[in-house]
Amino acid sequence: MKSAEKSELFRRLPSVDEALRTPRLLELSEVHGIPTTTDALRAVLARLREEIAAGAIEGQSLRLALANLAGPVEEEIRRQMKYSLRPVINATGVILHTNLGRAPLAEAVIEHIRGTAITYSNLEFDLESGERGKRDAHVDRLFRQLISEEIRRDREISTIVVNNNAAAVLLALNSLAEGGEVIVSRGELVEIGGSFRIPDVMAKSGALLREVGTTNRTRIADYEDAINERTRLLLRVHRSNFEITGFTEQPPVSELAALAKRRGILLMEDLGSGALINLRSVGISGEPNVLDSLRSGVAIVTYSGDKLLGGPQAGLISGDQKLIATMRRNSLFRALRVDKLTYAALESTLLAYVKRDHDAIPILHMMRLSNDEIGKRAEALAQQVGSEDLKSEVVDGDSVIGGGAAPSSVLRTRLIALTHKRFSADELAAGLRKSEPPIIARVEDGRVLLDLRTVFPNQDAIVSDAIRQITA
Ligand SMILES: *Cc1c(COP(=O)(O)O)cnc(C)c1O
Repeated sequence: MKSAEKSELFRRLPSVDEALRTPRLLELSEVHGIPTTTDALRAVLARLREEIAAGAIEGQSLRLALANLAGPVEEEIRRQMKYSLRPVINATGVILHTNLGRAPLAEAVIEHIRGTAITYSNLEFDLESGERGKRDAHVDRLFRQLISEEIRRDREISTIVVNNNAAAVLLALNSLAEGGEVIVSRGELVEIGGSFRIPDVMAKSGALLREVGTTNRTRIADYEDAINERTRLLLRVHRSNFEITGFTEQPPVSELAALAKRRGILLMEDLGSGALINLRSVGISGEPNVLDSLRSGVAIVTYSGDKLLGGPQAGLISGDQKLIATMRRNSLFRALRVDKLTYAALESTLLAYVKRDHDAIPILHMMRLSNDEIGKRAEALAQQVGSEDLKSEVVDGDSVIGGGAAPSSVLRTRLIALTHKRFSADELAAGLRKSEPPIIARVEDGRVLLDLRTVFPNQDAIVSDAIRQITA
């Protein structure tokens, strides 16, 4: 197309003001407001301009497009007004899937968030005295209840909340060890996804990292030899997302606690996963919990709210009251604090623990689902979707805890395996992602695998409808 022709087409494009005065766009402006409609119209006109410049549209089509501007404008408005953050169905079987928002919350938790967020609340207000209160009072009382008598007998334990466990580690190190040394085993200098690396957080906290031992073996004597007058802390970091096996050695936490006590320094443990109960009942062994840690004599323990605890994203610091008070006075605490929504979610989640109603916590319930139960649902679903073109069978497999917890613990499960005559596994999985709500599945060995452990039972029908729709 010659540039003269293009100029002629450009000239035919109406101005925004002009287009907005046409009846259909006036209607849209009334419904969606002038600014929204104007933005959408600008986007549509810009697309036409691009098409003209690229020579991709000629006179006749442009005339048609300009006569029907309202359609694309309305579509653009709808696209812009749609939420980007949306619910999805997690059929991966990864219970704490960091990319899918880790722990889903219980209905009761949502109600408590709603109830306190939709109006004013006593977040920082003491109803008895009528004076200013502390926001962490709401959850500290429940943590006190959960932390057994046995631990409290010889010391007062309190808990504070920050934005996530990375923030908890930063705050604890900065409060307790800035300008001093922190001793860590070389086998525990971990990276937990994204940019959380122990040496980096240590540097940001202003504490000096003192590495001891080797990758596979660190003895109590290694810690002991490294202690000097600048030492403030011994730090134990939970190897959340990996394991070291073979020729290995690591002193038990209780031995580290005894050493710290003897030498007048503190022992801190970054637990990460932060289970509040013994998970052996759900078939997960070797995952230390917060109470074990405190019972072994750890002064300060840090853990996530949205991993094995099953609550909202948060970082929790539990430990000796005096040390926690030091952290509360640190101005970093103010910068890292959480909002009322998190307090409400955490309070409601903790209440389920106090009531021993562990099944009310969705991730704990998912962990406890039996192979049989999942198998029955899988068989029913597989039968509904199978067709001449779509082979659907139920096979044995594993669910994963995820979220950097219990890396070697898997839960036996029953998977739905799909293979299609015409669509590849990747195409099927992409189709599922395009469904409403999107369904996220695993692809392995040319098959799409669906694990119903992480699918809520009331979503089974949605999954089956979606599969039938995309394979029809
Ligand atoms: C997960 C984890 C973290 C980071 O916790 P977030 O809540 O994701 O910030 C830190 N340390 C350990 C040991 C962890 O497992």
